[in-house]
Amino acid sequence: MKLPCINKERLWGLVQKLAEKGAIAGGGVCRLALSDADKEGRDLVVGWMRGLGLTVRMDQVGNIMGTRPGLKDELPVVVGSHLDTVSTGGLLDGAYGVLAGLEVVNTLNDFNIETERPVMVMAFTNEEGARYTTVMMGSKAFCGELSVEEVWAIKGLDGSRVGEELHRIGYAGDLACGVLRPCAYLELHVEQGPMLERAGLQIGIVEAITGVTWLEITIRGVSNHAGTTPMDARHDPGLVASRIVSRLPELASSIGPDQRLTCGRFSLAPGAVNVIPQEAVFTVDLRNGDEDALQEAERRLIQWIHETAAQVGTTASIRSMGRTPPVRCASPLVKAIERSAKDLGYPFLRMLSGACHDAQIMASVCPAAMIFIPSRGGISHSPAEYSSPDDLQRGANVLFRAVVQLANE
Ligand SMILES: [Zn+2]
Repeated sequence: MKLPCINKERLWGLVQKLAEKGAIAGGGVCRLALSDADKEGRDLVVGWMRGLGLTVRMDQVGNIMGTRPGLKDELPVVVGSHLDTVSTGGLLDGAYGVLAGLEVVNTLNDFNIETERPVMVMAFTNEEGARYTTVMMGSKAFCGELSVEEVWAIKGLDGSRVGEELHRIGYAGDLACGVLRPCAYLELHVEQGPMLERAGLQIGIVEAITGVTWLEITIRGVSNHAGTTPMDARHDPGLVASRIVSRLPELASSIGPDQRLTCGRFSLAPGAVNVIPQEAVFTVDLRNGDEDALQEAERRLIQWIHETAAQVGTTASIRSMGRTPPVRCASPLVKAIERSAKDLGYPFLRMLSGACHDAQIMASVCPAAMIFIPSRGGISHSPAEYSSPDDLQRGANVLFRAVVQLANE
């Protein structure tokens, strides 16, 4: 079948219109989950869904689902992402995947293309975890990883509760989570990194989504006078912590090019200029798309921490702050995406997603895969986040073809 292309101007128009909701200085967006701006964005998208003839449903955690019927009453092919942003977000992270889904439906409607299976466009609640720190909250509830009661009880950094805010903005729906099971889930997203731009390629076909481990490390030593304690008589936890952190790049490269290690928080106590600290506390974020490699990185880091701490007579304790295993994308979906990119003549890269996405949660209930487009300068979670209208169109074209293939299989 000769398939049409996505309307570039119309897609760009949707992106611009949605970005007005929660707009901040510098062209960015702040639509924290379940805030007034999030409500305005949701209202806009729900209105567009209805305008396209979709049947719109809301589940109990506020996930929005718009369904276009198929010729057969079968499980839908789902296209989704999220509408919430971090506090200084860009206009594409999340929004692009949902709006491209709307444009897929728009294009099916324009050309009177019917599909065997229904096509559903989905917007998940609180993917970012910026206000309520449970990331990918909506998809976790959808997949049964979190109960509705657990989600409603989650307390935000501003003291608010998810349940109360869902009711306040009118998005505590009546549908039980996960009732509508997909036959496949596709998520189109901006890369949020520099790999596609560096390689000069137009489409990223995600083969795996990174696993993440968060550790909090506490080094305890002996606090003492900065002037009277000889350098060889110290048990300085700050020194130990900084030695460990300074060797993270070395540890990462000993695992391989896909290993990421980041210290994002580092503090010394008591924190006085003339006092050798008593305690150092720091975090490490470990990521890899391969479970064995991630475990090896964890093992080496933990060994390293204990060895380094012991060298200067300090002790280390390590606390897990959470762990998400890596997920491999479903190969039939990856193949459908690759076929689409090839048909369209777009040069592509098979790659790892270093960021977390709802797709990795959805992979627990159905085959799931992701498509990336280049992010200018590799920048995201910033008002400077940008991908060109041509890139947006190319990604949506690949999505469109993949959806048509999967919805007719
Ligand atoms: Zn996102």
